[in-house]
Amino acid sequence: MRCPDCGAVLSDTPLMGKVGEAMRCGRCGGWWTNGSVVNEATMMELLKWPGKMIAGKWMVVGEERCPRDRQLLMKYEGESVPFNVSVKRCTKCGWWWWPGDELYRFKPAQEVKKDYFRLWGKMAETGSLLLPLLIIAVILSGLVAGLMLVQIRQQVGVPARGEIQIHK
Ligand SMILES: [Zn+2]
Ligand SMILES: [Zn+2]
Repeated sequence: MRCPDCGAVLSDTPLMGKVGEAMRCGRCGGWWTNGSVVNEATMMELLKWPGKMIAGKWMVVGEERCPRDRQLLMKYEGESVPFNVSVKRCTKCGWWWWPGDELYRFKPAQEVKKDYFRLWGKMAETGSLLLPLLIIAVILSGLVAGLMLVQIRQQVGVPARGEIQIHK
């Protein structure tokens, strides 16, 4: 698979020791990940893979498409991602593209938000803290039709409205 930004080859990178859930571009340092492994990852873990310096000229070579299924990547905006962090998502497979060192900017922001809820003894709504996972992408892509769609929506509805307790 190739980098959506610079076109170099992506390599499997076992983020949190998990194989097959994250890949990284050896040239520009961008990360291609699923959502759950990023939600789990810690800043300490990320520091095992230092950021890279890259000349801007490489960043126009890629096609900005999903490395797996060629779907055009869409900029993601949601409550769980700070507005000044740029991340793209494939609406087909649900994976996330973190250009350059954006993942290194997102994780501290997410951790600070978690700490806020923990220190203030508040419950955090899942959607305000965590990246949404694949099941939502499946619904958007229209692969699931009719009654099945309704059933999945109901299943999704419960955890989506729920709250998660932040533990130290
Ligand atoms: Zn790259
Ligand atoms: Zn995809």
